[in-house]
Amino acid sequence: MKKPDKESKIESILELIETPSYVCEEELLKQNLQTLAYVKQKSGAKILLALKGFAMWSTFGLVREYLDGACASGLWEAKLAKEELGKEVHTYSPAFKEDEIEQIASLSDHIVFNSFGQLKRYKTIVKEVNPNISIGIRINPEFSAAPAQLYNPCAPFSRLGVTLKEFKKEEFDSIIDGLHFHALCEESADSLEKVLKAVEEKFAPYIKRCKWVNFGGGHHITKEGYDIEKLISIILEFSKKYGVEVYLEPGEAVGWETGPLVASVIDIIENGMKIAILDVSAEAHMPDVLAMPYRPRIKGAAAPHKKRYTYRLGGNSCLAGDIIGDYSFDQPLNIGDKIVLEDMIHYTFVKNTTFNGLRLPSLALLKSDGTLKVVRKFGYEDYKNRLS
Ligand SMILES: *Cc1c(COP(=O)(O)O)cnc(C)c1O
Repeated sequence: MKKPDKESKIESILELIETPSYVCEEELLKQNLQTLAYVKQKSGAKILLALKGFAMWSTFGLVREYLDGACASGLWEAKLAKEELGKEVHTYSPAFKEDEIEQIASLSDHIVFNSFGQLKRYKTIVKEVNPNISIGIRINPEFSAAPAQLYNPCAPFSRLGVTLKEFKKEEFDSIIDGLHFHALCEESADSLEKVLKAVEEKFAPYIKRCKWVNFGGGHHITKEGYDIEKLISIILEFSKKYGVEVYLEPGEAVGWETGPLVASVIDIIENGMKIAILDVSAEAHMPDVLAMPYRPRIKGAAAPHKKRYTYRLGGNSCLAGDIIGDYSFDQPLNIGDKIVLEDMIHYTFVKNTTFNGLRLPSLALLKSDGTLKVVRKFGYEDYKNRLS
C-alpha cells in the first residue's frame, strides 16, 4: 500500500485561526486511520487508540469507524474511552489502586496487570465485577531500541512489566489470557522484529498458552518510510505460529502529522540576536520539545542562517529555557505574524499545563469540508479551578 501524500490545508484558513490554537486536520487524521485500517485488514490484528498520546474526543466518531477501541492507562482514560469511543476498552496501569479497581473492571474488556502481586490481589474481584473480562500481564523483554532513556520501558531497573527472572511460572494460571509488552517509541518494523525476538526467546512457552498478545505502542506506522508490509508479515507469522490474536495500541501513529499548533509573534527583542516571543510555550504547550528534546518544524522556516532572517523563538513563560529553537525566514518577522508549528496534535494537549498562568491553546478541527470548528476554548476558570 502506498500511503497518500499528506497535504495540509491550514494555509487556506490561517487568517481565521485565533491563536494560540491546536488545529487537527480531519482529512489528515482520516488518512492515518485508513492506513491503520489497512494493517488491520491485511494482518488480522486489532488496533486500539492509545489515549495517552491522542485524546481529542471530538474526533472519536471518526476513529470509531476505523479502529477497534482504545487503550487506557487508568480509570479516567477508561471512562473517556467508554463514554466517547465505545468498542473495546483495554486498561493497563503501572499499579491499580484498590478504590478504583472495581470501576475499572466494569469499564474494561481487557485488563493488564504490571506485576504478579497486583494480579493476585485483584484477579478475584475483577472477575466478580466483570466475568467476561480478559486478563493479561505485562512483560518486560529487557530489550528496546528507544531513542531516549525517558522513553525506554526496558532500561535497567524499569518498573514497567515483569522480567523473565521475576516471572512466576506457578502463578501463570488459566486466569491469564494474554501477554502485553510495550518497548517501542517512534520505531520501525525492524525494531519490532528485534523486540519480538527477545520476547520469544524469553517467553515462548507462555505465549503458546495465551489467547492474545498485545504488542503495545510505539509503532510509527503512519510515518513516511515505515515498512507496513513488513509489519503485516510479522503479525501474520506470529499469530499463526502461536495461535494468538495480536493487538497493537499506537497513540502517536494516530495523531502523527495531523495538524499544527498555531501561534502569533507578540514581541521581538534583541540580545546578541533577534528573539521573537510567541503566545505559546514549549514548556506548557509542547513539553516534548524540551523533554525529548526535539526541534519542531515550522512552516516556511529553515535552519538558522539558511534564509535571510534568523530568530530565536521563545515562549511566553518566565522559564529561561522556554526556547523552541533558532529558525530563519525569507521575510523579517513582524508582531502579529502567525507561526505554524507543525505536527503538534499528539503528546501535546494531552500533556499541557497552565504553568505560569498561561492560557491553554484552543482545540480546533479543520473539517474535511474545509470549515474550521473551534471545539474548545479555555479561559481563566480552567486555570483557577485546578488550584485552590
Ligand atoms: C505510551 C503507550 C502506548 C502508545 O505509545 P505510542 O508511542 O504513542 O504509540 C501504548 N501502550 C502503552 C502501554 C503505552 O505506555
